Amino acid sequence: MEIPGVDIVVGTQDRGKMLTYIEEHQEHRQPINGVSNIMKNRVFEEMDVPQFTDRTRASLKIQEGCNNFCTFCIIPWSRGLLRSREPENVLKQANQLVNAGYKEIVLTGIHTAGYGEDMKDYNFSQLLRDLETKVEGLKRIRISSIEASQITDEVIEVLDASEKVVPHLHIPLQSGSDSVLERMRRKYSKEFYKKRVEKIQKALPNLAITSDVIVGFPGETEEEFQETLDFVNEIGYSELHVFPFSRRTGTPAARMNDQVDDEVKNERVQTLIKQSDQQALAYAKQYQDQVVEVIPEETFDEHHPNMLVGYSENYLKVKFEGTKDMIGQIVRVKITKAGYPYNEGQFVRVMSDAALSV
Ligand code: SF4
Repeated sequence: MEIPGVDIVVGTQDRGKMLTYIEEHQEHRQPINGVSNIMKNRVFEEMDVPQFTDRTRASLKIQEGCNNFCTFCIIPWSRGLLRSREPENVLKQANQLVNAGYKEIVLTGIHTAGYGEDMKDYNFSQLLRDLETKVEGLKRIRISSIEASQITDEVIEVLDASEKVVPHLHIPLQSGSDSVLERMRRKYSKEFYKKRVEKIQKALPNLAITSDVIVGFPGETEEEFQETLDFVNEIGYSELHVFPFSRRTGTPAARMNDQVDDEVKNERVQTLIKQSDQQALAYAKQYQDQVVEVIPEETFDEHHPNMLVGYSENYLKVKFEGTKDMIGQIVRVKITKAGYPYNEGQFVRVMSDAALSV
């Protein structure tokens, strides 16, 4: 508000009021502060998003905020506490997206699978079931992220029975060392995480698991980092996002004394990326010569207009020779050269809607 020339300030809420603010400002020419106390917000703010620039996958936001307060994360302070979108509004938006031509919906949020924790008689599993049975024409449901503690037996059952929820879960790990997890104030031990993963892998043997890891959290010793390397190896991720710890002003971790040197952090990042790339390749190789279903999203580049790129259900990135009209369709592709980050494939056939519903 103190910057000269700023007319309106809005936060992460009340974005729907933007036009009103603009009109008000045009009339009175006075700066407007539209930021209120986010912690008092307990209701999901509805915002209609009928279309996306990405033509093949649509994000569907199902909740906002988080109650966890991990020591490195500012989100609960900037986004507020967990609040879920009304199920009927989620279903309505899903129907709209399918009618607009989207085959895949990605369920998103801040703490996505915490959906329903603020509701009495409805939960995330029920939402998945309702999306599967009540949204005609929806082909794929992807969960953007799920915490290990949210992989309940009921969620496993739903995934096992589902024909639409894809066999891919992003389960944030952050560290494979119990002492670091404790300092991060994460709500699980590595033993607990591993047990949940083993259970779900048993139910869904083809499941791809991706994750995030923070390297160089304050006080992280060589031994603790080694524990993370070992644990990552044990789990066998199909892809890992590795981040060097960065201080977020206002969080407890930013104030911790024993910050890790940037040089050490970067070395550890490189070591973990190297290891995770090998794992990703090993995962992809299991699909050599197999036929997978891909939704092509775009052409590879302007020099290869017929080379399409998209993701399989289990999140393998596949490029193959096709035609532009296949973009957004479900296409069967044979993996001819498994690799990472790209797998090369050969077009088999486009799945018709009739074939898909069988
Ligand atoms: S890292 Fe995730 S679980 Fe932890 S506070 Fe942030 S949003 Fe919540």
